[in-house]
Amino acid sequence: MEYSFLDMIQISDAQEERAMRLHKEAIIVDTHCDTLMHFLPQPWGGRPARKLGERSDFGHIDLPRMIDGGITCQTFAIYTGRRAFVPEASLVATQMVDKFYTEIASNPEIIAVTTHDEIVEAKKKGKVCGLLSMEGAEPLMGELASLRVYYRLGLRMLSFAWNYRTPFADGLGAKRAESKLPELGVQALEEMDKLGIIFDVSHLSDSVFWDVADVMKRPFIASHSNARAVCDHPRNCTDDMIRAIAEHGGVLGMNYAPAFVKKNGEGATIEDLVDHIDHIVKLVGPDHVGLGSDYDGIGNPPKGLESVDKTPNVTRVLVRRGYSDEDILKMLGGNHMRVFKEVIG
Ligand SMILES: [Zn+2]
Repeated sequence: MEYSFLDMIQISDAQEERAMRLHKEAIIVDTHCDTLMHFLPQPWGGRPARKLGERSDFGHIDLPRMIDGGITCQTFAIYTGRRAFVPEASLVATQMVDKFYTEIASNPEIIAVTTHDEIVEAKKKGKVCGLLSMEGAEPLMGELASLRVYYRLGLRMLSFAWNYRTPFADGLGAKRAESKLPELGVQALEEMDKLGIIFDVSHLSDSVFWDVADVMKRPFIASHSNARAVCDHPRNCTDDMIRAIAEHGGVLGMNYAPAFVKKNGEGATIEDLVDHIDHIVKLVGPDHVGLGSDYDGIGNPPKGLESVDKTPNVTRVLVRRGYSDEDILKMLGGNHMRVFKEVIG
């Protein structure tokens, strides 16, 4: 039988109207995707590079589909996990920063942003925004100087590790991932605080997470992690971690990777994803959850979230589950905008 999303969620006409009104009004923020690597020739997939401005049936994000999905601000991650060893990671990172700016420059509907107010302005003008982040600090080669240079290149969000150990911290895949945040990691956090770069705890080992929570004064985020109590996966956050993020005024961006949404990932749907939102709201209220799709970095997304143009379905499900207008606007991006204002200015 042909799959129909609207049949699946059984939304009334009045709810549909309200969802579409809210979706249009909202500043919609997604704090993680791996689309930049799709703009480079794929050494492992043999696929030709994609263009931001061209609608594709491959991958999950391109500008036409972002516009269809109503996205206001998409964070694009510099991700060199498959090229984890410097200096190659630094070379790939340079190529990705170049693609971020050259692809955006050839499409007038999207602009690169570095502040909260630029996003607000762009929304008023009906433009889409791109914000630059880095997933795994390998390209920085353990140098605070690199951190400062990348800030000047527009970097406003950083996670110290992807899977491996970097000079700043351990990722989940580090063999001895029980170690604490090293002195250099503490120094980098202080530098980020001075510069105004958002710290991202997604991918850190649990023990490093708690070190970070100890040291941090300002809000930090988990750009693409869900609730471990709903789906027991090490990339998701425990209830205690969610409370710590909330106590710091931070936000968790909900990750659409099926294995993070539902046990083993089999048959995951958007309803399973919104179960994570429900759990987090019950735990810490509506001010600490947002979107962090991980599009173009994951396999088959859940039903109802196949690619970025399906984002309005999130709003539909939130409406149908009875959330208020105010809470829905926060979850779609308002919460992340609060952190942006406080940290990056
Ligand atoms: Zn990731």
